[in-house]
Amino acid sequence: MTSLSLDARSASTPPAEALRLEKVTKTYGSGSGRVTALRGIDLVLERGTFTAIMGPSGSGKSTLLHCAAGLDVPTGGSVRLGGTEISGMRASRLSTFRRDHVGFVFQAYNLLPALDVEDNVTLPLRLARRRVDAEWLDFLLESVGLADRRGRRPSELSGGQQQRVAIARALITRPHVVFGDEPTGALDSRSGKQVLDLLAHTAAELSQTVVMVTHDPVVASHAQRVIFLADGAFAGHLDGATPAQISDRMGALGEW
Ligand code: ADP
Ligand code: MG
Repeated sequence: MTSLSLDARSASTPPAEALRLEKVTKTYGSGSGRVTALRGIDLVLERGTFTAIMGPSGSGKSTLLHCAAGLDVPTGGSVRLGGTEISGMRASRLSTFRRDHVGFVFQAYNLLPALDVEDNVTLPLRLARRRVDAEWLDFLLESVGLADRRGRRPSELSGGQQQRVAIARALITRPHVVFGDEPTGALDSRSGKQVLDLLAHTAAELSQTVVMVTHDPVVASHAQRVIFLADGAFAGHLDGATPAQISDRMGALGEW
């Protein structure tokens, strides 16, 4: 009896490995116009980690993020999200999988202007015809500091507040991974810091896995680990690094 319920519990526990990339390559174009953007990337992100990806312009950061998130298809290699192999998935199935299991926070908030905060946050569930977990919704709105703004339209909110709505929307499905591409790129430094603290909190307290691309060492310093890319390949990592340490490493990669 005891072992049965233990088995049942472990079977329903989400996998500890949120993301696994193996030998991921990506080339664009052909013949003399051929560009190799990723040269065989291996990467494992454990659940509940917060990772930043940095590297010089053109080093493959966006391509890596897009391949890992199922927004782009690698030329070779394997991508697993929450234990599910997504490379080779048909486009329609992949788009459903993304909607149900992947969160996105981009520089542009992409909120729907006609919907209030609550309806923007729950949109992914309605699209998936999934029930809204009222407790989780309340908890998220509280966590992003918008519990008293749930009936407001995006136009009535500041940029930082809108980005926090976008984060709550990214989390509403309890995705395997939340991907950010310059998530604070449009914000002033104070609201940017609030959003980054929220992403760090999301990883630490909610066991959500967060990975973001940024070119800003101060932004990257909020992550536990910074991974560096150069010319489509890994160029090392830093854990718990300061902005100065991150800048130095970028300098060594020839960025500045
Ligand atoms: P980063 O985000 O680090 O600036 P990218 O991933 O955008 O780098 O680009 C990596 C390389 O792939 C660059 O050489 C870029 O020019 C090339 N690249 C990116 N997207 C495309 C595309 N759609 N078609 C052709 N080349 C591309
Ligand atoms: Mg880019």
